Amino acid sequence: MASIAENLKEVLERISAAARKSGRSGADVRLVAVSKTHPASVIMEAYQAGHKIFGENYAQELKEKSAQLPQDIEWHFIGALQTNKVKMVIDKTAMIHSLDRVSLAQEIEKRATKPVPVLIEVNLAGEETKSGVAPNEVERLIESVRNFTKIEVMGLMTMPPFFDDPEMARPYFARLRELRDELAKNTGLKLHELSMGMSGDFETAVEEGATIVRVGTAIFGERRGKRG
Ligand SMILES: *Cc1c(COP(=O)(O)O)cnc(C)c1O
Repeated sequence: MASIAENLKEVLERISAAARKSGRSGADVRLVAVSKTHPASVIMEAYQAGHKIFGENYAQELKEKSAQLPQDIEWHFIGALQTNKVKMVIDKTAMIHSLDRVSLAQEIEKRATKPVPVLIEVNLAGEETKSGVAPNEVERLIESVRNFTKIEVMGLMTMPPFFDDPEMARPYFARLRELRDELAKNTGLKLHELSMGMSGDFETAVEEGATIVRVGTAIFGERRGKRG
């Protein structure tokens, strides 16, 4: 089996190749290594291979692991965030990918000690099992939070329906980019960031304009246990 360092190198090379296809460079795309369910020792292996950006889905896990690991790690919160867990993670989080309601923004506004970059999670396919706001409600959410002093809306995040063939996900990635362009025009905000693409489809996402990909399995291997 390949080591985490080798997996990381390969994922970064694949990101670069896909970025070049869309006229960009690998440096235009940030890799969030999704470490949910994996212990701190495994994250440390990736850190020692030079990687500093990790994504977690559960507040308790982020809190515990960030306490055990180097301070210069950039933690991204990518899972559904319960309002009562905000205070547990807010000062450890470089970016929240899953803003989906005003009440969550209000709690962040109340608890954060400095401005927090956030992405609005969009549920493009209207799947009931997934969180995220409907495409036609994103603008209203942005307008509701844009004057908050601790919320910086940097862009959009999505998780398309699962397909075996990444080409099937391409229209969703293209749609998120188009929605971003539309919202940037309507709101006057830059909304630069597009967080889209996972282990099975990150190259397609990069070709369609992803600025952040969230990759777990292709770096750390299969997750065990019921979560994730
Ligand atoms: C688990 C997870 C990922 C990573 O998924 P892989 O298929 O393991 O790469 C990315 N984004 C979110 C929101 C996740 O929950």
